[in-house]
Amino acid sequence: MTQVAPGGTIGILGGGQLGRMLAAAAHRLGLKVHIYCQDADEPALDVTPHRTLAAWDDEAALLAFANAVDVVTFEFENVPVATVEFLEKHRPVRPGSKALGVAQDRIKEKWLARDLKAMTANFAGVGSLEELLARIDQMGLPAILKTNRFGYDGKGQAKILERSDAEAAWAAMQNQPSILEGFVPFRSEVSVVAARGGDGAFVPFAVTENVHRNHILHTATAPARLSGDVAAEAADITRRIAEALDYVGVLAVEFFVLAFDGEDVLYVNEIAPRVHNSGHWTQDGAVTSQFEQHIRAVASWPLGSAAMTAPKAVMTNLIGDDVAAWASLAAEPGAHVHLYGKREARPGRKMGHVNRIG
Ligand code: AMP
Repeated sequence: MTQVAPGGTIGILGGGQLGRMLAAAAHRLGLKVHIYCQDADEPALDVTPHRTLAAWDDEAALLAFANAVDVVTFEFENVPVATVEFLEKHRPVRPGSKALGVAQDRIKEKWLARDLKAMTANFAGVGSLEELLARIDQMGLPAILKTNRFGYDGKGQAKILERSDAEAAWAAMQNQPSILEGFVPFRSEVSVVAARGGDGAFVPFAVTENVHRNHILHTATAPARLSGDVAAEAADITRRIAEALDYVGVLAVEFFVLAFDGEDVLYVNEIAPRVHNSGHWTQDGAVTSQFEQHIRAVASWPLGSAAMTAPKAVMTNLIGDDVAAWASLAAEPGAHVHLYGKREARPGRKMGHVNRIG
């Protein structure tokens, strides 16, 4: 595996806050970062002078970007697979197009989980209203209809409680290929953020318990409350997924936790092929942050320790106007405030987060 020595350059596809925090971690290790994104107003562009502003299919721009960097990664999973396949001809891309292709497709994700003997919600692909009605009759209700691709933070999802909801739910998918999922009566939602190195080393962070508001992550608390060996099982499922995808870098696997006879049972919900919002607590609550860990993995450095530095860590997202409280948060003893430098606090927009440790 190509190792990137200090002074080398990591190319990052995407210019959001994850790219910004990856860049900060890379800089601490003496590495440079080159951001490739489409919009001049992206938060990662504030923290590095090396940038390419171009479309995902601009081959001349992609080639020049590849030539300017040692290794490529991405911070955004809706980068077209074709973009990554093009770059792979010129530079190592970590993780690669295989992982990206599976993580972009909810049906492929679920089949992968099932192939690896992990459980998921019941599901079926849906391509028309007639098919949706037939699947509802087979699967039963309640259920959730989601676009198979390009959904995030609850976008492209519709809950179906009664058969008569089907038409509106299908209309909300705007004719895109979709997946019908049986509604999971979960007790909690947890995620495993973990790194896999180029040598196959696998290092998971503590399992995190996630609370959503309006489909957007609100708080992430580590360690998650889970019965018996369920935390180790969540990490093991994540390892099997990472191995099956030949993964290099940090990934997150989101799970639903169901309670059966007092025992927790895991269903895989989603795979994120990147650093993840539920791992932001690691910046202040783990020996190595998820951002540094990802940079270490893609640069083929040894992975760092993922041990927690305190018994408990809580991350709270600052969504939209929440960020107006920045001065009082900054005054709170022990609160670690992270702001993304976005100018406009639109509703639902992730503006920053606060980590409270211990
Ligand atoms: P997703 O985009 O798949 O992560 O879904 C966003 C959120 O919607 C999840 O974190 C859950 O809170 C909820 N959700 C998604 N799918 C299901 C399901 N099959 N059953 C119950 N809740 C769900």
